[in-house]
Amino acid sequence: MPKTYNEMYLEARKRLKAAGIREYSLEARIILSAAANKTREEFVRDAQLYAGTEYEEKVEGLVRRRLNGEPVAYITGDWEFYGMPLKVTKDVLIPRPDTEVLVSAALELLKGAGEARALDLCSGSGCIGLALAKELPSLRVVLADNSDEALKVCRMNILNSRLTQRVTCVKADVREAPPKLIGTFDIIVCNPPYIPSSDIEGLDHEVRDFEPREALDGGADGLEFYRHIASKWHKALRPGAFAAVECGMGQAQEVRNILAQKNFVYYKTAKDLQGIDRVVMAKLV
Ligand code: GLN
Repeated sequence: MPKTYNEMYLEARKRLKAAGIREYSLEARIILSAAANKTREEFVRDAQLYAGTEYEEKVEGLVRRRLNGEPVAYITGDWEFYGMPLKVTKDVLIPRPDTEVLVSAALELLKGAGEARALDLCSGSGCIGLALAKELPSLRVVLADNSDEALKVCRMNILNSRLTQRVTCVKADVREAPPKLIGTFDIIVCNPPYIPSSDIEGLDHEVRDFEPREALDGGADGLEFYRHIASKWHKALRPGAFAAVECGMGQAQEVRNILAQKNFVYYKTAKDLQGIDRVVMAKLV
């Protein structure tokens, strides 16, 4: 029996729900419209049309991936962050709503700065730097990551968001000194890997088995990357510039100490929507 898009949607929705997926309706709609190369509005418009066997097979493959625990962002390759559509692949972390707090904090720090330069370290998809560039028309941004695959995703996102005039990307490892020609910045924003190595095994299956471990693992105590930022990356900042870093639950105090012990003075902390200290801001002395 041929099925309509809507019948297929209802079926997929039921299977996702039975598997305990919380956002089963939303995710079914996202997966089924992506499989049809339709926007969600087009999908609703065409709900009563017959979909065809090729589509049915495609959907079956995608739904199975989801039931196997793969996040919907990797299945469709699309994700939204700070109101911005982004491409994501398994080589980058899926941008989290918590990280939007870092964008807002940086925007606050850059208020009235005019023609400033921002460096997004451990950029992954480029979500933070791109959101800043989109919000601030005179900001120039460099996205830096040590993964070639992540940089490919950055390039795609720079192009798609039409920010090629002001956003570039460069290969750099936070654990090493800044590349010579990178110049100096008014702010470094960074969402480094911050999960203690021994906690990785205990993460949700969907995170642990699908998201890049090198984007999650922050070393023995989870704080390794903050130490590198504090001891090396002040060289890429002008005096008086800021570092704004995301951290995990319960890490803010230690992150403040790390930054204040070397080159920086503590400035401010911003909380996420759950009231957890999420972003530590420090100023270069
Ligand atoms: N916030 C992410 C998580 O909870 C971790 C991101 C990171 O290590 N930077 O999975």
